Order: sequence, then structure tokens, then C-alpha cells
Amino acid sequence: MSDFIMKDTDQQMSDKCINENTAWQHKLLNSANKFLHWVITLDTYDGSEKIYTHMTETSNYVFFFGGTLRTVTKSRLYSVFVFCSLIVPLALFSIFECRHLWYHSHGLHLRTLIIVFYYFNLLTASSFFRAACSDPGVVSRNVHMPGMAIAYQIPREYYNHVILPSENQSAVITMKYCQTCRIWRPPRSSHCPVCDVCVLTHDHHCIWLGNCIGQRNYRFFIAFLISSIIACLLQVALSAIRLSNVTHPSKAPVSILLICYCGLGVQYPLILFLYHIFLTGTQQTTHEYLRSIGSKNPIFHKITRDRNSPYDRGSFFKNLIHLMFQERGWILVDPTKRQRYPRDVRFQRIPEAHTMENI
Ligand SMILES: [Zn+2]
Ligand SMILES: [Zn+2]
Repeated sequence: MSDFIMKDTDQQMSDKCINENTAWQHKLLNSANKFLHWVITLDTYDGSEKIYTHMTETSNYVFFFGGTLRTVTKSRLYSVFVFCSLIVPLALFSIFECRHLWYHSHGLHLRTLIIVFYYFNLLTASSFFRAACSDPGVVSRNVHMPGMAIAYQIPREYYNHVILPSENQSAVITMKYCQTCRIWRPPRSSHCPVCDVCVLTHDHHCIWLGNCIGQRNYRFFIAFLISSIIACLLQVALSAIRLSNVTHPSKAPVSILLICYCGLGVQYPLILFLYHIFLTGTQQTTHEYLRSIGSKNPIFHKITRDRNSPYDRGSFFKNLIHLMFQERGWILVDPTKRQRYPRDVRFQRIPEAHTMENI
């Protein structure tokens, strides 16, 4: 009898141990899942109240580190290619060139140049991340739904442009209703089909950065172009100095490679920067310019200034300063913050509106 009781107690203890182990494993698995979901938030809503999990439902964004960084699911990793093309020459210079230049330089000037070169590379990397992975100025969804969160039909007047008054009598500011986001878009904003969001002062969707360029990251985009141009030119200069210090060019093959690579590579950000100088000087975003010429290809089209534009500041320079250094404004949808109201309609995907004619 006592043997039987002992066996029963042993069995109970072993069951309890297994249950505790299973519960512990389950807890660990749950925590690991939560952590992974925090590191990369794909299109899977896990029931949490964090906005970065909700925004994956209403956009094509993928969030990293709890909504701190973002990219677009359709970006095809071009941004990784761009980042590697920045890092590879820097790594080659650091491994093969820098030491020789630093220790065999005859003055402080060259060392200063090397420090300045690294500073601009750091600036390039930081502006790249801020332009590619930060909020371009996403507008909240479902703000203007005329008493019909459930019905899909919208009033006829929502299909027309709304014309707002402007200081210039001959200029018009138009507003359009976004049927996908269910909002009256603020002036100069537009819907990006790649990101599937409306963006404030939308310039363009950059496939190389995997993000939209809008009101909140335009200055980082410009900073990225300027710093990459300067970093390329400094790279060419430093490699040329290194080449002049050796007795034969064959003794510094990396210098020749870097001069060719950066000499050719600088052209892309340089052309893009010049193009944006003319665009901002004429007070146009890329989106507005392409719409005005009626083409998706800006090559061989002249950029002209529309003096009747409601946004024109009176001079090329004032326009340039106004658009390049425009106020970033508030983050309208901050994925890092916990949402205030559970089941907030702004983070729900509501089917696109249509008229009775389309049914
Ligand atoms: Zn929209
Ligand atoms: Zn976009």
C-alpha cells in the first residue's frame, strides 16, 4: 500500500515537473516570438496595441526594432545594394590606403583631409538611413469618412477637386479625396501606390532608398546627395595623392580602382542633386513636375518656373530654400507609440470606396 502511494506521489511530481517545463518552454517561445516580432514586423497583426503592428495592415511597410526603422515590402533590396556600394570603397580605402597616407604624410593637412573624408562618409551613412528608414510624412487614414465606416459608397462631390483660396488670384490650390486612405489629402500630398500611404509634400518614391521622399525626409535625401558627392570627390583626391607617392602605378592598384569607381559613381548623385536644385528653385516637387509635363520620364524636358504657382516665393533662391529646408512638421502616425484608443479606425483597412455606378 505504502509502495503504491509512493509511486502515485512520484507520478504526480513527475507530471507537475513536465507541466512546469512545458509552461516554461511555452513562455520562452512566446517571448522569443514577441522579440522577433519586435525586431521585424511583417504583415502579421499579433493583437498588440503598438501602432507598428497595425500600420503593416494599412500600408506596405515592414518595420524594424519596434517601428524605429522601416522599409517597403516591394523595395526588392535595392537599398541594400546602394548601402554596399557606399561601404565597399570605404572599406577598401581603410584597409589598403589610409595607413600609408596617415603615416607617410608630411604635414597635418593630409591627416585633416582624411578626418574630413571619414566625417563625410559618416554623414552619408546617417543621412542615407534617415532618408531610407524614417517617416516621409505619412498621413493618418480614415479621417474623413462621411458617416459611413461600413458603407463603401461616397458622395458624388468627393470625386471632384476642392479649390482653396490663395493669395495669388490666378493661382489655385486643389485638394483631392483619396479613396484608398479615405481622407481629403492636404495640398501637395499624394498617394504612393508602392508604400500604399498618402505622404505630405510628396516628392517621389525612391526605389534606391526603398522609401518615399516627402516633407519629413526630403532634407535627409538632399543631405545624402551632397555628402555622397563630397565623399566621392575626397576619395578621388586622396587616392590621387596616394598614387603620386608611389614610384609606379602598379604599386597602388586599389588607388586606380577607387579613382575610377568614385569618378564614375559621383555622376549619379551629382546629376540628381542638380536636377533637384532646378526643381526646388522653380518651386516644384518631382511629382508636380512629372504631372505638368505629362510624362514619367523627365529626361529631355525643360524645367520651367510657373510664376502663377500658389507656392512661388518670388525668386529662384527663395523657392530653393523654402522647399529644401521646409519644416518637417509633426509625425502624424508614429509607429513607436502605443495607440491611444484600442481598435482605432485610423489603423484599419477599409475597402476602397466606390459609387453606385461601379457596383
Ligand atoms: Zn492615400
Ligand atoms: Zn512610397
